[in-house]
Amino acid sequence: MSFVLEPSRKTNVLARAQVVVLGGGPSGIAAAVAAARSGASVVLVERYGFLGGMGTAAMVTSFCGLHANVHGEIRRVVHGIADEILERLESLGGLNKTHSVFGRTAAQSYDVGAYKCVADDLVAGAGVDLHLHAFAVGVRMEGRAISAIFVETKSGRGAIVGDVFIDCSGDADLAAWAGAPFEKSDALAYPTLMFRLGNVDDALALAEGKPKLRALVEQEERESGEPMPRRAAYINPQAHAREWRANATQIARGDRAVDGTLHDDLRFGEVEGRKQIRRFHDFLRRRVPGFAESYLLEIAPQLGIRETRRIVGAYVLTGDDVLACRDFSDSIGVNGWPVEQHVRGEVDWQWPGARGYHQIPFRCLVARDVTNLLVAGRCASATHEGQASLRVSGPCFAMGQAAGTAAAMIALEKKTLETLDVTTLQDRLRTDGAFLGEP
Ligand SMILES: Cc1cc2nc3c(=O)[nH]c(=O)nc-3n(C[C@H](O)[C@H](O)[C@H](O)COP(=O)(O)OP(=O)(O)OC[C@H]3O[C@@H](n4cnc5c(N)ncnc54)[C@H](O)[C@@H]3O)c2cc1C
Repeated sequence: MSFVLEPSRKTNVLARAQVVVLGGGPSGIAAAVAAARSGASVVLVERYGFLGGMGTAAMVTSFCGLHANVHGEIRRVVHGIADEILERLESLGGLNKTHSVFGRTAAQSYDVGAYKCVADDLVAGAGVDLHLHAFAVGVRMEGRAISAIFVETKSGRGAIVGDVFIDCSGDADLAAWAGAPFEKSDALAYPTLMFRLGNVDDALALAEGKPKLRALVEQEERESGEPMPRRAAYINPQAHAREWRANATQIARGDRAVDGTLHDDLRFGEVEGRKQIRRFHDFLRRRVPGFAESYLLEIAPQLGIRETRRIVGAYVLTGDDVLACRDFSDSIGVNGWPVEQHVRGEVDWQWPGARGYHQIPFRCLVARDVTNLLVAGRCASATHEGQASLRVSGPCFAMGQAAGTAAAMIALEKKTLETLDVTTLQDRLRTDGAFLGEP
């Protein structure tokens, strides 16, 4: 490979804080707010001009994992900062009623615009120093500790200096740069480019279109002789009349999933996603009741990435932990979502046992080999199967709140990851409204 040598340079310090959070998705929002409310100075770094992560940039538009089927009763199990997000969304008129997921649990859809505004208000209200339009590109280490991250901005490169760092990048960018061990599966969950449709006939789509969708996808495949990207395609009404979202594309490169940490895959995936959307929308209009007069309202600003790097932390959550509804003495919150695997052409579901949720151990947030790094969200420590459940928004809020609270305790009380008292952390989380999964 050819290369050019860059001259060494002095980089200005753009910001400095006790806690630095990379990434403003659900885990990063909760981490920054929790750390700031705990009294630490906090910088939140986000590459886009808005917060929400996949929930806004990839137009996920639905919160999963907040609810669980607890012995037959579907109820909300993730609380704390997640409660405030839902309340604020509701007050902006941007929250839908919960909808059933295969009659087994519930999810709740929201408006992307309202979510962006709610996230702004929450982080501003907590006093977080928010650096939007700042793309993190590297790290400075002092021994085994991170001392700064480097960001590229419209005004050039800058350093953000901190005491404790939380990686909420979804891709474990910071953990990987800092040398923490991580895994990346050879069979990554397939990504999806999401889109929304306007002018859908709600009544007809709900009564006939949605229930028949899979059969119609199969008919389309038979009659066109061309496979559709995904037989398991999902279409759902949004908070407002005549507006639906579609989770229907699946972006492959040859016989593997597009990898969200590879530039070449990402540039290919965006264009391929839009091709698939045109085809799927054409199919909806021709065949699916309720969609004949629909139009393409919006395509997500970026390809939705479900899985890339996962750190190998102090504990690695497994699919079996999820299915067995396992408890952990260092629980910092719970997750009620099943194992949802996006495999070639399909989505495979495995449902947890009767209690419906498992506890999330604090050790899943603790990176190894780096002394001042916590990791929350979809890149926390889990196996491929464990991550297929732990990655959704509900547990990401719970992990973020715990990581932020822990980081502030470490920074303010001069603790280390080893000397942090997890019992005190748990007490603080309970005081702040989190549910840790005790009976
Ligand atoms: C297509 C799709 C559909 C999904 N459907 C649902 C659903 O219905 N319900 C649900 O709850 N979950 C769903 N999920 C999963 C869920 O949205 C994500 O897993 C969740 O958002 C992960 O949260 P996170 O905070 O870990 O990371 P992310 O949401 O990925 O946020 C990471 C943030 O970090 C920023 N960032 C990353 N790298 C850098 C960098 N180097 N510098 C600066 N900023 C950076 C990103 O811009 C982003 O804002 C879906 C995911 C996909 C892809």
